[in-house]
Amino acid sequence: MGGGTPDDSGAAVLLSLARMNKIRAIDTENDTITVEAGCILANVQQAARDAGRLFPLSLAAEGSCTIGGNLATNAGGVQVLRYGNARDLCLGLEVVTPAGEIWDGLRGLRKDNTGYDLRDLFIGSEGTLGVITAATLKLFPLPAAQLTAFAAVPDVESAVALLNLAKRRLAASLTAFELISEFCLTLVDKHFPQSRRPLEARSPYYVLLESSDAESAEHAQALFESLMAEALESGLVTDAAVAASIAQSKAFWGLRENIPLAQAMEGKNIKHDIGVPISSIARYVDETNSALAQAAPGVRMVVFGHLGDGNLHYNVSPAEGADANAFMDSEPLVNRVVYDAVARHHGSISAEHGLGQLKREDNVRYKSPVELALMRSIKQALDPLGIMNPGKVLP
Ligand code: ZN
Repeated sequence: MGGGTPDDSGAAVLLSLARMNKIRAIDTENDTITVEAGCILANVQQAARDAGRLFPLSLAAEGSCTIGGNLATNAGGVQVLRYGNARDLCLGLEVVTPAGEIWDGLRGLRKDNTGYDLRDLFIGSEGTLGVITAATLKLFPLPAAQLTAFAAVPDVESAVALLNLAKRRLAASLTAFELISEFCLTLVDKHFPQSRRPLEARSPYYVLLESSDAESAEHAQALFESLMAEALESGLVTDAAVAASIAQSKAFWGLRENIPLAQAMEGKNIKHDIGVPISSIARYVDETNSALAQAAPGVRMVVFGHLGDGNLHYNVSPAEGADANAFMDSEPLVNRVVYDAVARHHGSISAEHGLGQLKREDNVRYKSPVELALMRSIKQALDPLGIMNPGKVLP
């Protein structure tokens, strides 16, 4: 969203915290890890694993993104369904304020009702209120086994019904539930010809499920098989495959992770990161697909994402053979259709990517004046000189 990109005034200072990369402490009894903001996410995951614990924040950029950025943008990713987003995984922060003071809020407490929650104010503020320099994060037990399944579903409504069934049958071991449209896989087939589909037959939509089992691989397998048998019988699922090995599991995930790359290789596209209540998501997709087909005939919808969180990357590619630049000129119109539908369903125009520079104006259109005024007073109170990441989040 351009949240980390300075304006073109030439007067901005860029601050790198890359050298603040120490793991300060791991407390396995309290299940917490305290790390500096410049720690690469994958290194935090590894440090937790070395201590026999899981740090569950997981996203495609984990090999290069830093925990400070993850917290400043309240990152989501693929395991939010079970463990929550970056905000839910953070117990305490250390922050340098715009006045140059250090706030030591590195408390590893699950309960602390001593006034306004400053921690949650800084998380997701995209650097506009202060600089996060360290954090105390939650750890979890390492699962005994992880298993992936891939299922064909006739429509989004069935995918939502399958989600609810999977939640009931797998309970807390359901850790990911991703939706993928047939057109997404067509793009992956085309641009990653070495990838193989788990299922022969074509279906309008597919679901990628992951379970993290506390008992064993056999237990996970048995649960998945009975879930799929029940879903097949009731018609929610038309075909399904459970990964038989870690390599196969990785191949299933590879299909999902290659969608954004395949779409970029296909050419220019308009990206969205929308959130709506899970109960509205099927209607949202239907309504928006037909509204877009009217407003911009021929455009191709690339619908995929974290259905378990009500968060879709509802992306749009131009009509086959259409002029890409003319298509990009229609971006405001396309965004308007997509975001107006989000607003009708009481959703969010940015579920996990933030506002940065690209969505700050759109946000003003869809947030209430009361909410915007509260946001402006917080910014004014904490950063009266407007020196922290100027021009981001609020216009
Ligand atoms: Zn995502």
